[in-house]
Amino acid sequence: MNAPASEPIHSQRHGGLLTIDRGAIRRNWRRLANKVGNASTGAVVKANAYGLGIETVVPALLEEGCRHFFVAHLSEAIRTRKSAPNTEIFVLNGFLPETGPAYLTHQLSPVLGSQPEIDDWRHFTARNTSSPPATLHFDTGLNRLGLSPSSAPDISDAITNHTLGFTVSLVMTHLVEAEIEDSPVTRRQCDAFLDLRALFKQTRASLCNSSGIFNCAGQYYDLLRPGYALYGGHPLWSAKANPMEQVIRLEAPIIQVRGINAGEKLGYGGLYTATRPTKLATLSIGYADGLMRGAERRDDKAGGYVLIGGNLCPILGRLSMDLLIVDVTDAKPEAVQRGAMATIIGDELSIDAVGDSAGTIGYDVLVSLGNRFDRHVID
Ligand SMILES: *Cc1c(COP(=O)(O)O)cnc(C)c1O
Repeated sequence: MNAPASEPIHSQRHGGLLTIDRGAIRRNWRRLANKVGNASTGAVVKANAYGLGIETVVPALLEEGCRHFFVAHLSEAIRTRKSAPNTEIFVLNGFLPETGPAYLTHQLSPVLGSQPEIDDWRHFTARNTSSPPATLHFDTGLNRLGLSPSSAPDISDAITNHTLGFTVSLVMTHLVEAEIEDSPVTRRQCDAFLDLRALFKQTRASLCNSSGIFNCAGQYYDLLRPGYALYGGHPLWSAKANPMEQVIRLEAPIIQVRGINAGEKLGYGGLYTATRPTKLATLSIGYADGLMRGAERRDDKAGGYVLIGGNLCPILGRLSMDLLIVDVTDAKPEAVQRGAMATIIGDELSIDAVGDSAGTIGYDVLVSLGNRFDRHVID
């Protein structure tokens, strides 16, 4: 009898197997860090490190030398702090007054993006002298979060005259379409940020997300904020090969194989009609696992694929909560076995390709990854 530890990882399970290659995350971070010279490369670990796990990702990046982490929520910052003492952690979604004590306890930098946030932080820090330094976020085109650049001279004067009431250690802005090469929008934002930066000479500055690192070469300032590229996402939405290494592989077992005749319909709603005698495999994975329902293939709409034995097999009909029907007519018969694993994400099915075929983006694919997979981290 084999000990359980030597059995295949998925042998007793009945669902998807998500393999996270932490070595690839490390190499992706290092690749970016090497590219940006003297600037510091941070890491955006919001949304549970883009679905891959703060506790999985942060310690590995820390070992590589990452010392700056960006999150969206305060709760994510507190989780990140547990894995990353003695680092700077920035909370991108701004500051709410009642949360001050948590910023103090965990030494988190609030990213202030409006005058009320500045007022609230000033009010809080007036009573708490050991408050961490704040970050100022200026809006240069997204119209989402951020101070108006027209408010910058007054804030700059207040810093110089020591009347602002708190310390600022970083100024930042965020790009609208950094993934598009030679974008005039990006160029305008870069110019605007250069002007802003001139008002805050004593303060560090941060401009680039993943795509910005590739499309705003040389405008690295002091600190980079890559997220998607660390997790294997393609930072350039062009035909160019992805410079990043893929990080995840998602597999699920075939649990039934059957044949249908031309003209038969399949799946909820009968949205797909077989155009030929078709061999079907049913996989034990569905939208409850985070698969994108947009990957469904209907009579009038293309859809996504899975890989079985190296062959691309079309996803047919509506996705079920726990099941996926795929066309395996053209797959190698020996690969279409009950219990064999199909690749949902991996190899040519990159997160970008999977997102694209489902009418969404790879970011969405990542952050939607479900929490009932057998998660397996390799280094
Ligand atoms: C999410 C986010 C990033 C990271 O963007 P990627 O495209 O994932 O690299 C950087 N900065 C801000 C302000 C963000 O919200």
